[in-house]
Amino acid sequence: MQGEGPSAGRRCAFLRLGGCNLSCRWCDTPYTWDWTGVGDTGVAYSPRAELTTMPTSAVLERLLGFSVPLVVVSGGEPLNQQKRLIPLVTSLLAAGHRVEFETNGTVVPDARLVTDGVRFNVSPKLAHSGDPETRRLVPEALRALAAVPGTAFKFVCRTAEDLDEVSWVVERWGTTPVWIMPEGRTAADVHRNLAGLADAVIARGWNLTPRLHIHIWGEKRGV
Ligand code: SF4
Repeated sequence: MQGEGPSAGRRCAFLRLGGCNLSCRWCDTPYTWDWTGVGDTGVAYSPRAELTTMPTSAVLERLLGFSVPLVVVSGGEPLNQQKRLIPLVTSLLAAGHRVEFETNGTVVPDARLVTDGVRFNVSPKLAHSGDPETRRLVPEALRALAAVPGTAFKFVCRTAEDLDEVSWVVERWGTTPVWIMPEGRTAADVHRNLAGLADAVIARGWNLTPRLHIHIWGEKRGV
């Protein structure tokens, strides 16, 4: 199930890819990239244990086997591998599926992925991620993604003060429509941050998104 953003609550299959070009402190999928323990968890994950190499045909077969209309490609940062994803996405669309990319907004999407049936859910990172601004905010990528019809911009926030930083990004690069998502790896944290943000988000005319998978399954990983 897609837990976040405009498709929250919809049944889907997830393709989670390894590797990320950022290293956000509060990342909730550090097992996809944190091989040295720099994230909040302090755990140095093993790429040998976490990553599996599969041919595209096998990935396609498994995704089609879920018999759901939506495939979410996430990570890590999936657009780091976008050229290798083009045949897979083309096959999924031909089979009648829709595809959503969960991306951090630092990579310009390949034109072959900008097509009907594909949506980019872009999550530009704020200062509290701990990533340097020059790495987390890439103007050409944000502008390119903002120009793609249907793109949604999803900002992870903790406090109402974070919303000023979101406004700054929106004014500079036209990153709309805006969805504000509460940071948190537990249901209690997500609920507390959501309650603290809601009134200010509504007042700014933006959208709110829950993190349904956290409320249902907590930090338990899917299989
Ligand atoms: S961009 Fe996403 S996957 Fe990468 S470190 Fe940040 S939260 Fe984690």
